[in-house]
Amino acid sequence: MSRMNGRNRKHLYQIISARDGEFCAMCGIVGSIKSLCIDHRDNNNRNNDPDNLQLLCRSCNTKKNPRGKAKPENESAEVETPRQSEEVRLKKKYEPMFRKWIDIQVQRYGRILLQDAVESGAEVTGASIQTIERYFRKMCSLSGKLKVVEVEGKKYVEFKEWWKK
Ligand SMILES: [Zn+2]
Repeated sequence: MSRMNGRNRKHLYQIISARDGEFCAMCGIVGSIKSLCIDHRDNNNRNNDPDNLQLLCRSCNTKKNPRGKAKPENESAEVETPRQSEEVRLKKKYEPMFRKWIDIQVQRYGRILLQDAVESGAEVTGASIQTIERYFRKMCSLSGKLKVVEVEGKKYVEFKEWWKK
């Protein structure tokens, strides 16, 4: 792992999880700031460029960096494991699509109806309403960049303040 201090780590975690989602980049298991490690793709602990960072569960982090020894990037990245469930594979397919789409919508309109966002999101990505709702819960969680606001009894999604800056 790295030389990040706690505050720095938290900040980076927010950026990476808002970008990639709160799950292990290798096996897809869903996690949190407590269970996911910030991994340096190039194994250089000083390179804290967000492009070089990804979230890994402890088990995948250990597999990628056994006993802290650096391995070349090409040996470790994007290994499909047979025990990866159908759900995880689908999630990997839909989630980036959905995140990209919702980003564009919220940027364009500033605030969009939650109901609309869920239904159109499902329509656009091909995922089920339930799946889209799950993505929303993650994106509106503590480390996500979206929040739900209620205006005149209707629920809308918009970017959190720290993301707008
Ligand atoms: Zn993992």
